[in-house]
Amino acid sequence: MLLLFDIDGTLLLKGAEAHAAAVVAALCEVWEVEPPQTAHGVEAAGRTDQAIARDILELAGISAEQFDQRRDDFILAAASHYELLVPDDLSDRLAPHAAETLAQVDAHERYHCSLVTGNIQRVARLKLDAAGILYPFAEGQGGFGSDSDDRNDLPPIARMRAGQLWNGGDAWPAERTVVIGDTPRDIACARADGTLVVAVATGPFAADDLAGADVVIDDLRQLDAALESLT
Ligand SMILES: [Mg+2]
Repeated sequence: MLLLFDIDGTLLLKGAEAHAAAVVAALCEVWEVEPPQTAHGVEAAGRTDQAIARDILELAGISAEQFDQRRDDFILAAASHYELLVPDDLSDRLAPHAAETLAQVDAHERYHCSLVTGNIQRVARLKLDAAGILYPFAEGQGGFGSDSDDRNDLPPIARMRAGQLWNGGDAWPAERTVVIGDTPRDIACARADGTLVVAVATGPFAADDLAGADVVIDDLRQLDAALESLT
């Protein structure tokens, strides 16, 4: 089974302040806008960094075309800013039971751990490292907000990369893949790709809002049982 973990709201709670600041700083730098007030009200949960950046810029009068022209500069700038801003220790932001659950699934030969997150790849890896939970996630694996602005594109990208490592070069099969996330957008991206999905009600959404998942759990302590129930 390939496990595609979301980060914010799933593995880490309230761990995104420095990340949000890095995205805003990158926008200021690349497009020379004044974003603090314009960032207000742009929805972030379950969305990719690129999609969030695009919305903030639109409010500042920067078009989608202008965004696309300097997209790669933005991704590099956001990663550089985050490198400077990331707290040394984010272990106090771990979601309940995240550390022991990851240790458990990482030790289980049945599971391969990977990521599907709206975070830019470099940001995701720095963030997980600061929280002490980077070790289950191989470099080069996962689907990230730097790969696409549409979260629905990310599970197939993560499966393709997993196939290079664990399936002889063929994309890892969707029916043996589980997205684990905290928002309806995590559920939607799993559905779009035909994977299974476990929703965790530790983010901004309650269990009722996540009823479209195959299984909804209160926290990650219940993940092992949820995965068992899917197979
Ligand atoms: Mg999330």
